[in-house]
Amino acid sequence: MPETVTLQGQPPLTPRWEPWMRALLADPERVAAIVAEHGSPVNVLNPEPLTRNAAELTSLGPVRDLEIQLFFARKANKALCFVDAAARAGLGVDVASEAELAQVLDAGVRPERIIVSAAIKNRALLSLALTHGVTVSLDHLGELAELTALAAATSAGGRGVRPPVALRLALPPSSGVAPTRFGELADRWLGADLDGVDVTGVHFHLNGYSAAERVTGIVAACDLVDAVRDRGHRPWFVDAGGGVPMSYLDDAQEWETFWEAQRAAVAGEAEPLTWNGHPLTTVYPYHQQPTRRAWLTAVLDAPARRGEGSVAQALAGRRLSLHLEPGRALLDGCGLTLARVAFTKQRSDGVGLIGVEMNRTQCRTTSDDFLVDPELVTWSGADAPFTGFLVGAYCIENELILQRRLTAPGIAPGDIVALPNTAGYFMHILESGSHQWPLARNVVWQDAGPLRKDRIDG
Ligand SMILES: *Cc1c(COP(=O)(O)O)cnc(C)c1O
Repeated sequence: MPETVTLQGQPPLTPRWEPWMRALLADPERVAAIVAEHGSPVNVLNPEPLTRNAAELTSLGPVRDLEIQLFFARKANKALCFVDAAARAGLGVDVASEAELAQVLDAGVRPERIIVSAAIKNRALLSLALTHGVTVSLDHLGELAELTALAAATSAGGRGVRPPVALRLALPPSSGVAPTRFGELADRWLGADLDGVDVTGVHFHLNGYSAAERVTGIVAACDLVDAVRDRGHRPWFVDAGGGVPMSYLDDAQEWETFWEAQRAAVAGEAEPLTWNGHPLTTVYPYHQQPTRRAWLTAVLDAPARRGEGSVAQALAGRRLSLHLEPGRALLDGCGLTLARVAFTKQRSDGVGLIGVEMNRTQCRTTSDDFLVDPELVTWSGADAPFTGFLVGAYCIENELILQRRLTAPGIAPGDIVALPNTAGYFMHILESGSHQWPLARNVVWQDAGPLRKDRIDG
């Protein structure tokens, strides 16, 4: 009899499993069928929770007399089912490359519901945006000059087409925000020739999840809006970027306890919890407060400049909409990754190893680890606990799927590991075709029957 058990880390980090994920894991034959049909690993996607996550944010608008619009940051997951879901829910889309933009236009998203925030914008991307009248978030003065020239060349003979742009604002170090490669300081924008473009908004995107820094950003963006309006432009939105926080764990105490144990281990006071004692220096806050709606409430209700009331009032008083570009926080609950166990064995020094048919770029971001306990669908039937680390397909000693030591009550080749809540970044942001190991197939959840591929996989 197959059963679903926890691949238990110590101390435990218990993830939130959406009801649809539980329903899938409660059906081992279906889990096995999905991996048999689509290979290992396979990403199972469900766009449903995106709508709920978005509503948590947008429903605050009427409560604060403010127009709030979301632009789903597509780079957080490449699958097109999320673009379709965002469009159905009335959201826009934030795109980071020409391919992302072309696909979003093909999917029927209206140009005015798209913003191009790509860090590097080549000529092809700028031309495509220009052709469709898609707003470009300008990163620097060179980009402004290039788009202005492109627009002038395109509208040969007639009155110039002034492409809609948002100015990407970099906050100065004196604001307390970390130095950033993105955007330009306000003075640089105000010193530039803006006559060839139509400044429809001011944009910024900050690292991290600080509500206080978003308040600083919005106040500075309002100042730039005022100055740009003085020059005859009509900006109507401030776009505060992404970084809306979420939690992967519900239990704050578990998160605390884990870090106490990890600190003790790194200090050499206890056995290491991680592969070769990895210190886990850069990780997402898997538990944090506040998240999504409470976090946005804190931003909107914070005082703006003296005499302007709250941030919400400072925006509404200028007839500005607030745009946000959440990626991760919209994809909360929208996906899991399944991978087949290839082997269990011992490292030369006896450390337990669980080989899985995937590589570490298939569940990894730029941070050090994915700090939740996976589940295991096991056919082992044996009551033979096994403790070890999940290792992957790249021919590298430190090829770890997760850095933490995990224990299964029983495990055998052919069992299937389920990694929870991987839709936001973990699936695609670093995925690599190295070793010609195939990229994971992306399939779309439905309650019954075989799962079909997302359009992104052809
Ligand atoms: C990455 C990014 C986002 C999304 O960030 P999240 O942390 O996923 O919300 C939004 N806007 C820009 C410009 C980005 O680079």
